[in-house]
Amino acid sequence: MGLLALGTALEWEDAKKQAGLVREWGIRQLLEIWNKAKTKERDALLWGDEVEYLVVVYDENDKKVVVSLRQADILKALANDTELTSQGGGVPDLQHTTGADHKTPLPVFHPEFGRFMLEATPGAPWGIGFKELLDVEPDMKLRRAIAKDHMLPTEHPITLTTFPRLGSPGVFTDPYYPVSGPKLRSQFVPDEIANPHIRFPTLAANIRSRRGRKVQVNVPVFRDENTPWPWKDPTVNYDLHNWPEDDDVRNGAAPDNFIHMDAMAFGMGSCCLQITFQAKNITEGRQMYDQLSPLGPILLALTAATPIYKGFLADTDVRWNQISRAVDDRTPEEMGEKPLKNDRWRIPKSRYASNSTYISTDHRLRPEYLDPDLVVDEDIKAKLLQGGMDDRLATHFAHLFIRDPLVIFAEDLEELDLNKTDHFENIQSTNWQHMRFKPPPADNSIGWRVEFRPMEIQITDFENAAFAVFIVLVTRAILSFDLNFYIPIAKVDENMETAHARDAVLQNKFHFRKHLFPAVRAPRSAGPSGANTPVPSRPATPVGPVEDEYRLMSINEIINGTEYARSAASQTKDTLDKPEDEEENDFPGLIPIVEAYLDSMNIDVNTRCELATYLDLIRKRASGELWTAARWIRHFVATHPEYKRDSVVGEEIAHDLVGAVIKVGEREQKGCGFGGLGLEGLDKLLDGFRGGC
Ligand code: ADP
Ligand code: MG
Ligand code: MG
Ligand code: MG
Ligand code: MG
Ligand code: MG
Repeated sequence: MGLLALGTALEWEDAKKQAGLVREWGIRQLLEIWNKAKTKERDALLWGDEVEYLVVVYDENDKKVVVSLRQADILKALANDTELTSQGGGVPDLQHTTGADHKTPLPVFHPEFGRFMLEATPGAPWGIGFKELLDVEPDMKLRRAIAKDHMLPTEHPITLTTFPRLGSPGVFTDPYYPVSGPKLRSQFVPDEIANPHIRFPTLAANIRSRRGRKVQVNVPVFRDENTPWPWKDPTVNYDLHNWPEDDDVRNGAAPDNFIHMDAMAFGMGSCCLQITFQAKNITEGRQMYDQLSPLGPILLALTAATPIYKGFLADTDVRWNQISRAVDDRTPEEMGEKPLKNDRWRIPKSRYASNSTYISTDHRLRPEYLDPDLVVDEDIKAKLLQGGMDDRLATHFAHLFIRDPLVIFAEDLEELDLNKTDHFENIQSTNWQHMRFKPPPADNSIGWRVEFRPMEIQITDFENAAFAVFIVLVTRAILSFDLNFYIPIAKVDENMETAHARDAVLQNKFHFRKHLFPAVRAPRSAGPSGANTPVPSRPATPVGPVEDEYRLMSINEIINGTEYARSAASQTKDTLDKPEDEEENDFPGLIPIVEAYLDSMNIDVNTRCELATYLDLIRKRASGELWTAARWIRHFVATHPEYKRDSVVGEEIAHDLVGAVIKVGEREQKGCGFGGLGLEGLDKLLDGFRGGC
């Protein structure tokens, strides 16, 4: 997110009174841009990724590792680097790209919520070319190198999702600050943990004020052999009396067997990998939004990388629910804990949650897929309909607009400016669903975009590039083959929960649509190894019960296809002739579909080969041949001599884990293999990808 201009941020009591006005103006701005952009056509199929880093202070010989709070200084150093900014890189406001003849601009760096974080994007979005897909990994490596160059020698940008000992007793930041500040009122992290720009502490404080208590980020602890049971989080202090919120833990905020955290930083302080696509027009954008939505939980489980919180092993593998809880501003009435009196409705989910509805105009979107109890602001919806928006899209925005704006600047309330989208973005950008439908900016200079947000950041840029490329190729296959991934939105929610389980990628099953291809015959084509790659066809079937359209599948089946689909039987028989039970088992898998898509395009051998290494990583993750980062981190902790099988990730273990991750990163920068690092299990994470020196 870009830095907003400074202004007077309203505290919650004042902000609350202006919420209705901000919503009303936001809707008018939305209608303005929608009217301007709804007929926009032929925008290019651009896309871009976002990589988030933790900045750590690491010294091999000091058995302690902490996060660096120098985000602002690092960004300043990047901004002041004229060599960087003159080539289109640096920070957003200072990019000086020099037009058409310019080669690829250098990467751009952005602030993030955590003052120990950094975000980097390519200097310009990627285009449609296949060769460009091969530029992503070098660009990611370049970003990491540039970031490192603007840090102190002891500072390192690393891509772990969470800092293992954030909020643990003792010192975990540099510089050190005592805990329990007025904004967060956390008993574990200081206010200085958040980006000091007024927007961020206000966001955290207003979430807490609106909620009427601190956020409760409770994550089940992993029960190991020596973990006392029932387990009580030993870091919780029940005797603090600095703030009214110190009562929270005395009122049951920290239940047994859960790691208890109490501040936005525990969620928004985690790193992810996001991909934004530009669609050719609004219709295609709506289609992409819907079709990518059911893939969210699958990619969350495949990228699982978050097994540690606050110095303890968790019993979950991903960050999602923790972020959800870390920004959950719902009141007790909205959460259904008290009867509705002052609030307008009960709201089943946090404003950070999986998607709530589908938005496409696709005739294949059956009403049964939608949530019959979706909460919408009916007045807002009526205004959108009156403004000419169709019911489905109006419903989506009227759902986002059930939320209050959290950070309001007094200066922005002087008059409504229809040449801006600030009030619309205020609500839109604090609805953190796993997809985001992004309308063009006020100047209508770019197209309708869709953001894919569930993936966890990976330790190496090779992996980050692999997942970015994979989801780009899946999106191209969706558009090219007109694939249909629809399942009821409630099942996507359920899958999102399932994705949290330890090793869900191998142990759990997910609801997934059985038939992805439209009911027309598509040609079969030869795969890369000469084997037949199935592009199944099927007859137009009468519409049956929705429940018959999907079934539970393992991620291996979803990604690599069912055993039946890979077998000879499936290759020789036409789908139309198959008995029903065989057809049921004939799920082609996303990788074979992507391969079929690549087959249908004209791609040079070299590019195809390089892309294959990315697809191999995804394939092997799904089959279990390779490990997720979560699994590797658990293995690292379990085999560390200091680990006592009591779920505690102590300072030395955290230090060595971060050290290992830094070493892997340095090897990757040098373009060397990962052998000889003495890191057990690393071959299970990376399989020697990208060769040796
Ligand atoms: P946010 O933080 O709001 O999601 P960012 O500005 O950090 O957005 O950028 C998101 C990504 O979108 C970046 O990778 C950027 O390169 C990419 N991007 C920018 N413009 C376009 C565009 N017109 N089409 C597709 N992607 C774009
Ligand atoms: Mg961003
Ligand atoms: Mg952002
Ligand atoms: Mg970000
Ligand atoms: Mg740019
Ligand atoms: Mg983003």
